Amino acid sequence: MKKLFINGEWLEGAKVTTTRSPSDLSDVVGEYASAGTAEVEMAIAAASNAAESWRYSNVQQRADILDKIGTEINERKNELGTLLAREEGKTLPEAIGEVGRAAAIFKFFAQEALRIRGDKLASVRPGLDVDVTREPVGTVGIIAPWNFPIAIPAWKVAPALAYGNTVLLKPADLVPGCSWEMAEIISRSGLPAGVFNLVSGPGRVVGEAMVNDRRVDAISFTGSVGTGTRVLAGCAARRAKVQLEMGGKNPLVVLADSDLNVAVNAAIQGAFYSTGQRCTASSRLIVEEGIYHAFVAAMKDKLAQIKVGHALYAGIDIGPVADQSQLEQDLRYIDIAKNEGATLAFGGDLLKRETEGYFLSPALFTDCHPDMVHAREEIFGPVASVIPAKNYEHALQLANDTEFGLTAGICTTSLKHATHFKRHARAGMVMVNVPTAGVDYHVPFGGTKGSSYGAREQGSAAVEFFTTMKTSYTFA
Ligand code: NAD
Repeated sequence: MKKLFINGEWLEGAKVTTTRSPSDLSDVVGEYASAGTAEVEMAIAAASNAAESWRYSNVQQRADILDKIGTEINERKNELGTLLAREEGKTLPEAIGEVGRAAAIFKFFAQEALRIRGDKLASVRPGLDVDVTREPVGTVGIIAPWNFPIAIPAWKVAPALAYGNTVLLKPADLVPGCSWEMAEIISRSGLPAGVFNLVSGPGRVVGEAMVNDRRVDAISFTGSVGTGTRVLAGCAARRAKVQLEMGGKNPLVVLADSDLNVAVNAAIQGAFYSTGQRCTASSRLIVEEGIYHAFVAAMKDKLAQIKVGHALYAGIDIGPVADQSQLEQDLRYIDIAKNEGATLAFGGDLLKRETEGYFLSPALFTDCHPDMVHAREEIFGPVASVIPAKNYEHALQLANDTEFGLTAGICTTSLKHATHFKRHARAGMVMVNVPTAGVDYHVPFGGTKGSSYGAREQGSAAVEFFTTMKTSYTFA
């Protein structure tokens, strides 16, 4: 059984969680300790006690430690990628890519630790110096989702440590393994006891305790809108700093002048890769009338070539759905779409494979009305809706007609429409002729409207959340 890491020691929890591969339910991936209230209390006390000295730690020490962690993750990316693929169901190439990204994030923030900047302002009063400096927030509680089991913990843990904060990491219950491996690497990196703590366990126990405890200065959360709203209320009640990255129902506009191959690739990768289980997935395909029939026909041809199967097998394009409850949710939305009168143009069936797993063929619904429930709510599975649009202006209006605002994409060869869309799409990230799903590891990530709350993640923008500003006046 793999233990919790609290105050520099490996400890047992209140329970043990056993994880199984969604590609093969007979494959037990691991047994992991799950914290109860006593362990959370120990972890919060440890992180809070360590905060005072870690905030003054040398930035070169932080940079060296983060770089070392990134190097080991990168050296072990095939092994860790295999674990990730077994645990979460992403295909092996996608999983190895995600581990490589986690490694790159640690190395990026190793450098960022050396670039913490301040500002010097002229005072309006004679003889005064005004300095603006960045300081650590203190102790940060990190609550992660299951769909990026190593990249999301990495993109929160690395900046938290780089900017001098102590960390409580709570991975999602479904995927404790990747965070455990990351914690094991961190445990040997030279960090003082209590600076980093792994507290796996249920959201209602571990997550809520972190959200409600005054010793936790900030909460960085990624997950569903429902949980995020609860986390926000808890943080608001005690005025704690909080950032939330939540769901999406991301549009991809396909204009009549687009290159059909580019559009189909963007739609297939954006909607269905990683089994559609990405917050950035483009599950609302808004297609201009002039290309509508050609696009649907090309999508059906392409989907017929897609291979769904065991995440570790060669040549697989789409792995299984992550678990039973996620599969039930996907099937429920497929029924809703059928009952709403959308046309099931492809897929939506449970598939039998050599192993028992949660295999679902990608479902494409066409002739969807923009108000249909399945076309408005986040499904978080391999289900996409094609909505016809009369022209560019209509497509833009449909793209913005959602409570979410994470990504928005457009496929077009018109510079005029691409530029207009970049200006007018109400989303945190806009993609032109590329799948909405792919993002770089070193640039700001986040959304607008109901998708996100608070400061951006990733890249140099992360300094906003993981530090506070201090303004000092000196008369000398
Ligand atoms: P979830 O909300 O069910 O869980 C997220 C985390 O919150 C888990 O660690 C969970 O244990 C914890 N949690 C549950 N109840 C809690 C509570 N009461 N208090 C504190 N923590 C609690 O989400 P999920 O199913 O793990 O992830 C899928 C969702 O995440 C989707 O909506 C997806 O769009 C979103 N997501 C968003 C981004 C982004 O950057 N915007 C990235 C990945 C996933």
